Amino acid sequence: MPLTPSFRRLWCCAALLAAASLGTACGASEGTANQGQPTPSPEPPGSRFPAPTNPFAAAEPAAAGANPAAPRTDMAAPTPNADPTAYNPLTTFEAWVIQQKGTERAGTGEYTDHEAEGTYVCRQCNAALYRSADKFHSGCGWPAFDDELPGAITRHHDRSHGMERTEIVCANCQGHLGHVFTGERMTAKNTRHCVNSVSMRFVPQGQPLPKPIVLRPKGS
Ligand SMILES: [Zn+2]
Repeated sequence: MPLTPSFRRLWCCAALLAAASLGTACGASEGTANQGQPTPSPEPPGSRFPAPTNPFAAAEPAAAGANPAAPRTDMAAPTPNADPTAYNPLTTFEAWVIQQKGTERAGTGEYTDHEAEGTYVCRQCNAALYRSADKFHSGCGWPAFDDELPGAITRHHDRSHGMERTEIVCANCQGHLGHVFTGERMTAKNTRHCVNSVSMRFVPQGQPLPKPIVLRPKGS
């Protein structure tokens, strides 16, 4: 039997509180509290997270506190990679999410309420991950998909933050995407990929997909 709206709201509030206190997100539950927040908060990233549990906030205390008008660090210019054969350069915030398994705040991602038709590719390596046809509104504040492109996603058991979850990463570059949940009955496929917007890049339908970057193992 599907969850009632009021139950979802309560469930989501609990999940978001847990996410905020733990410095994580994509909680194991659904909800509605953050739906309708397409505009990113002007607050610096990490300001709602306790510093000890948010390595991104701890790494950039000046940006988070010294100047409220300072630009978001996730908008900062990417740092060029020293290795020209490496993956796409990432901003500090993107690298924290994708490579350090960080999580963007609920309701702040650019693709949470994005509805255009197209394909979502990995921001780090360009591999195609999800189709817009599989995207749905979960109400939890992060982009949600109930299916993946074949072979695009790898799953890992994740026991971090005192929770039992299934982490999803890009099968090509192992970049962190978010978590996947089943059994919530939010769609017919009964699956919710809860994905950080900054882990992906959207390619509108009709535009060519970027060529995936496949790095050879060192020494090969
Ligand atoms: Zn990738």
